[in-house]
Amino acid sequence: MNGSRVAEILQQLVRIPSVNPAFPGGTGEAELGRYVEEFLHRLHLPAERQLVAEGRFNVLGTLPGRSRRKLLLEAHMDTVQTVGMTIPPFDGTIQEGKLYGRGACDTKASLAAMLATIEVLALAGIRPEVTIELAAVVDEETTYIGVSALAERIRANAAEYIGAVVGEPTGLDIISAHKGCCRFYVDVNGVACHSSNPAQGVNAIDQTSKVLSFLSELHERRYPKSAHPLTGPPTVCVTGIQGGIAPNTVPGHCRITVDRRTVPGEEPFGVYEEMKRDLEQLADAEGLELTLSEPFVIDYAMETNQNEPIVRYLLTATQTYEPQASIQGAPYCSDASKLVRAAVPSVVFGPGHISEAHTQDEWVELSQVEQAACALRDLILSVK
Ligand SMILES: [Zn+2]
Repeated sequence: MNGSRVAEILQQLVRIPSVNPAFPGGTGEAELGRYVEEFLHRLHLPAERQLVAEGRFNVLGTLPGRSRRKLLLEAHMDTVQTVGMTIPPFDGTIQEGKLYGRGACDTKASLAAMLATIEVLALAGIRPEVTIELAAVVDEETTYIGVSALAERIRANAAEYIGAVVGEPTGLDIISAHKGCCRFYVDVNGVACHSSNPAQGVNAIDQTSKVLSFLSELHERRYPKSAHPLTGPPTVCVTGIQGGIAPNTVPGHCRITVDRRTVPGEEPFGVYEEMKRDLEQLADAEGLELTLSEPFVIDYAMETNQNEPIVRYLLTATQTYEPQASIQGAPYCSDASKLVRAAVPSVVFGPGHISEAHTQDEWVELSQVEQAACALRDLILSVK
């Protein structure tokens, strides 16, 4: 593996803006998709577009193997916005072994490692034991339409897959379990009146404070009891609040945004129903008038058995280059849960750290990108 070639590929990826169109200034992934397509064609490998939405497509490439058994390498092409960044987002500047730019860490470093691996094997004319599929997908940062379309496509043949490696910055740890989420609003109604005589009304913000206390109680006392060994406990966090219309009016309405993180074994709609029952009980006990919206975002937690070949082979391959690498859980969501639900055993793996993702000076350690590429190459050469 040639480290400067890995860096060159990553620099090219970062220089192609691919901000998700849901974010300010987002131009989408199409240009990056064309880059990946040309990269594969130059190696005389088949590459196919999977149209996901207007102007947005996944690129699916294949490095043919000796058998029909398949290993999927998946990475998203989109990034978050560049607003507030303190470095040029698309220069791909290299300084002291780090490459800077939006997406450098999340997750173009993973995509670069995958492309570099495929290039090395293709140029050496190596035909691995299993067929390698590369999927560069759209829209991980918002609604997962890219991986969802991919999962639909492979669901019927899921048994052919040994597993999938989903590229995200894990610091070269192997994430075999991560959380999911369920987000919804709670609307609390009171009675508005002149605030010179608040006793005439019912203050919706005061009422909401009882909901907030109740949610804190769940977070601190109930959820720790359901901790998962890899991901830790479920959590609940109030991420927004809106209430009041004027400084001299008792608020008649207040809305909070609730972000409930689920652990493997919990279903997002199940936890929503449980929350609804709990809050309705609270409303009865405290005389509150409240309603829950339907969830506006749900995502699934995932867990892959640690004895799955994909976990064992990848751990062995990675520890050659990073002896500290281990099997971990993560609190965030990823594309992997959609593949696991399509019955493909999946892990999340890649260079860089999640703490460096989405930041104002996003960067990745180039030595780690090279290590990831070496680990993926060894995985491909060892997996049966
Ligand atoms: Zn990512």
